[in-house]
Amino acid sequence: MSLQVNINGTLVPKSDAKISVFDHGVLYGDGVFEGMRAYRGRVFRLEEHLRRLWASAQSICLTIPMTREEMVRQVDRTLQVNQIDEGYVRLIVTRGIGTLGLDAHLTSDPQVIIITDHIALYPREFYEQGLKIVTASTVRNHPGALNPRIKSLNYLNNILAKIEGHQAGCVEALMLNHLGEVAECTGDNIFIVTEGVLRTPPISAGILEGITRGAVIELAQQEAIPVQEITLTRHDVYTADECFLTGSAAEVVPVVTVDERSIGTGRPGPITRRLIERFHALVRSSE
Ligand code: PMP
Repeated sequence: MSLQVNINGTLVPKSDAKISVFDHGVLYGDGVFEGMRAYRGRVFRLEEHLRRLWASAQSICLTIPMTREEMVRQVDRTLQVNQIDEGYVRLIVTRGIGTLGLDAHLTSDPQVIIITDHIALYPREFYEQGLKIVTASTVRNHPGALNPRIKSLNYLNNILAKIEGHQAGCVEALMLNHLGEVAECTGDNIFIVTEGVLRTPPISAGILEGITRGAVIELAQQEAIPVQEITLTRHDVYTADECFLTGSAAEVVPVVTVDERSIGTGRPGPITRRLIERFHALVRSSE
């Protein structure tokens, strides 16, 4: 059976899953989304993802035409019909059909789309050997322009940085904020370990408040690893003992080279490995 996509509560085969070319999601990237992981048939931290989706929508004056309870039901139903136990879930809410102008008031019928699929993770060797990343010259969106806390359908800022990463032979790229401080990677949050202290930029650095980031901070606290949400410069990253990234799709992935500087020993460090282990245990437990 082909993959079924949920559009506004109706399941349709992947090939029939279509929306209008006049939808402002298509015309302007006007809408919001979430990327989530299912483990053992259940979405990891679904409530947190829904809270963030609703917050993103609220911030752009978009009313999601579905209750949270109904969204939970539709996510479960879509996972079940596609028989996905371990996979990825994409929630999308578009602004809906409008005119060719920007006016959000002239739009109607926001579309709620749920796509579930098996995930193409990074290859295993990335987790064992770590990633090489570079700093992109594309600066992360200024929070006063398009706040990175909004997970909007307009991801060009990140895509442009990711293209730079690819051009340098890397699968991820580090993005700095408008002040030149470390912000995050194109689709992941960043952490470093320096002298036993886990450090990550604060939300005020202009980043997405990652749900995996939150989970890793909790795990570190349980492991009695000191955690600081603190402004970081590239110098802090270059001179760290360890570095790793977090995201729903990537989970926790070590970084061993940044802008051709080896981080620490040049191999995934002990705290990174401990947190990866603890994260795997967490997602596989019922919480
Ligand atoms: N930053 C950005 C820009 C992202 O797109 C993502 C992935 N959604 C993350 C961080 C990680 O967030 P999460 O752990 O909630 O997936």
